[in-house]
Amino acid sequence: MNTALENLDFSKYADGLIPAVVQDYGTQKVLMLGFMNEEALHHTEQTGLVTFFSRSKGRLWTKGEESGNHLQLRQILVDCDRDSLLVKAVPSGPVCHTGADTCWTEKNSREDFLYYLEHIIELRRKGTDESSYVKKLFAKGINKIAQKVGEEAVELVIESKDVNRALFLGEAADLLFHYLVLLQAKDCTLADVVKELQHRHQPK
Ligand code: AMP
Ligand code: ZN
Ligand code: ZN
Ligand code: ZN
Repeated sequence: MNTALENLDFSKYADGLIPAVVQDYGTQKVLMLGFMNEEALHHTEQTGLVTFFSRSKGRLWTKGEESGNHLQLRQILVDCDRDSLLVKAVPSGPVCHTGADTCWTEKNSREDFLYYLEHIIELRRKGTDESSYVKKLFAKGINKIAQKVGEEAVELVIESKDVNRALFLGEAADLLFHYLVLLQAKDCTLADVVKELQHRHQPK
């Protein structure tokens, strides 16, 4: 175990359980809240599958042990005063026992709309609905998609010279949408781009 985790302050809680917020490593969505004791933390690190101490079950509980919807561990962060954890993981299926993606579905989804849209584009691409605009775009191939991004970029440049805000926003949306399609055609994700930007960012 690394030193940060060794110095966790379990004593703050009468039941010795530390809250662990689980976040999606890719989309950054907050997925669920669980509780860990030292054993659960150790088990999580050993197996790479997020494991809690379940108060209702009264035992260690590996998320997904029945449903198969595991949480694959990527990173564990300790908070400022060492009394809570942020667990970054990749879910292999819906995280909530209700079948929803997160335990706060709909309530925390608005700011994630671009990621949701990315997901919809993927569904359309793989789907069988031939009338889908996205499906048709993919059928035309990568050169056509890249060209479309170029056209939308030019349209945005043209609208930036105009005073009409609605037209400018419309073209900005067109560009962003086709940009997402191009990323996917290149087997890249928005999260990959964000990661690249974060990598370049130098905090002042
Ligand atoms: P699972 O670990 O996904 O196989 O689910 C096993 C059981 O754990 C479910 O029947 C629920 O009682 C409980 N459970 C699953 N997911 C959650 C969750 N996100 N929050 C709280 N309890 C859960
Ligand atoms: Zn704290
Ligand atoms: Zn839930
Ligand atoms: Zn346009």
